[in-house]
Amino acid sequence: MDIQYKQIICLNGHQLTDGADWNKPVTGYCKKCGKKLIDSCPNCHSVIRGYYYADGFVVLGRHSVSVPKYCETCGKPFPWTETSIKALENLLTLSQLDQQEQNELKEAIPDLVSDTPKTKLAAYKWKKFGKPILDVAKDILVGIATEATIKTIYPN
Ligand SMILES: [Zn+2]
Ligand SMILES: [Zn+2]
Repeated sequence: MDIQYKQIICLNGHQLTDGADWNKPVTGYCKKCGKKLIDSCPNCHSVIRGYYYADGFVVLGRHSVSVPKYCETCGKPFPWTETSIKALENLLTLSQLDQQEQNELKEAIPDLVSDTPKTKLAAYKWKKFGKPILDVAKDILVGIATEATIKTIYPN
C-alpha cells in the first residue's frame, strides 16, 4: 500500500520530520528554537505533504522532502518564508539605499524566493543595487532563494 506522510515544521521553518503519520495530530514545540510545531498551512489548513512511500518500488537511500516556501493549495507564503521576507524588507529600510532602490529590491523579493520568469532579473537587481547589505542579507537569502539565485548574487 502506498503511504503519504506529512511534514512537521516549526514556525521558524525547522523541519522535525517529513515522515509523520498523516492522521496523527501535531503537538509540541521546536527543540531548536522553541516555536510551535505545525503540520498544515495556517491560512487554508491544507496538510503539508511529506514523504510518499510507493509500495513496490525499491528505494535506495530515501530522499528527504524539503520544507516548502509556499502553500501548494492557497499559494500563501508559510510563516518561515514570511519571516524571512519581512527580515529582508527591514534590512532594506535600515540601509543607506535610496527610496527607489529600496522599492526595486523589495518588489524583487518574491521572485527571489520562488522560481519565476523574473527570478534571474531579481537576482541581478539584488547583486547590483543591494551591494551595501549583501553581507548581512546572506544568511536570510541562502535560506529562501534557489541555489542558482544564490550563485548569481554571491558568485564566489
Ligand atoms: Zn524551530
Ligand atoms: Zn494554504
